[in-house]
Amino acid sequence: MDITIEKVPGTELKTKPDGNSLGFGAIFTDHMFVMEYDKDQGWHHARVTKYSNFSFDPAAMVLHYGQAIFEGLKAYRGHDNQIYLFRPKDNLERMNLSATRMCMPTLNIDDVYEGLQALLKTEQDWVPAVEGASLYIRPTMIATEAGLGVRPANRYLFYIILSPVGAYYPEGFNPVKIFVTDKYVRAVPGGVGNAKTAGNYAASIMAALEAQKQGFTQVLWLDAVHRKYIEEVGTMNIFFVIGDEVITPPLSGSILPGITRDSVIKLMRDWGCAVSERPISIDEVFEASSKGMLNEVFGTGTAAVISPVGSLFYKEQTCSVNNGKTGKLARRLFEELQNMQYGRNPAPYGWISHL
Ligand SMILES: *Cc1c(COP(=O)(O)O)cnc(C)c1O
Repeated sequence: MDITIEKVPGTELKTKPDGNSLGFGAIFTDHMFVMEYDKDQGWHHARVTKYSNFSFDPAAMVLHYGQAIFEGLKAYRGHDNQIYLFRPKDNLERMNLSATRMCMPTLNIDDVYEGLQALLKTEQDWVPAVEGASLYIRPTMIATEAGLGVRPANRYLFYIILSPVGAYYPEGFNPVKIFVTDKYVRAVPGGVGNAKTAGNYAASIMAALEAQKQGFTQVLWLDAVHRKYIEEVGTMNIFFVIGDEVITPPLSGSILPGITRDSVIKLMRDWGCAVSERPISIDEVFEASSKGMLNEVFGTGTAAVISPVGSLFYKEQTCSVNNGKTGKLARRLFEELQNMQYGRNPAPYGWISHL
């Protein structure tokens, strides 16, 4: 693919922030990758260009009917100063699944990967050197055609922006308190829960706010039909360790197929753990806790990697997990994955690529 590189002049580059006070998603780099799609030309005009505003028609279809999808992955700087990516092509493949579900055009994965590499080469000084910090990568696709008819658009924009982000656990790898909602649902069977599409996140905000107002960090989502089976936690997949069995809900269609989820399943199976992808109800979890068998609960996702859960609050009752302490498996998975992502340990299955 032809990619034009339009570099911002050195005198106009932004001042890079201190790697120790980054937060999440508030700072953006100097350049972005952009390409356009229309029915006649397909994807075209690929370029690395200045990070700047877009201009749209007020009737741009994304603003009305929500054809918008995205991905999230990270670039990590190792001690050897190399820049590492974790399973990047899996993110692009998942983006194609989201595109197909939302009737948007798919991407040529090798072309987009080339675009991502060109962008990262241009911006490599932005990958923080601080332990735990990384450069978050946000590929996005939106419908730009102007029109008010409800149908798939004929014009789209694909772009990748980059944001240096801080360590997720600056104060240590500590468990969080979770609110189990039976009032709101995240996704429904036959809906778009397995697509990384913008509307899913808009729909989740109210439940998250209500949970936060009551002092909880995140929401645990139950299935929409029975309000009983566990689906996800916040924007993460979820795992339970009951006795010796590791359980995670199956990819039924309303759950986002996380790459971290897939990675931890593979790692644990390689370690000889019994991992079941099966339905698990909130009642089963509370029962296991009352019998002293609920050994661990943790979320998985690119942002936090592993997020240990210390307690669950459901129907005015609290169940505590492992006395509110981080479990062994959560800690081992976190360390193992971080060691691969920062290039300290080799990764199996070709999971790590470097720039
Ligand atoms: C992105 C996301 C995940 C985690 O996916 P990873 O590929 O592991 O980052 C889980 N659930 C939801 C709803 C998500 O949007």
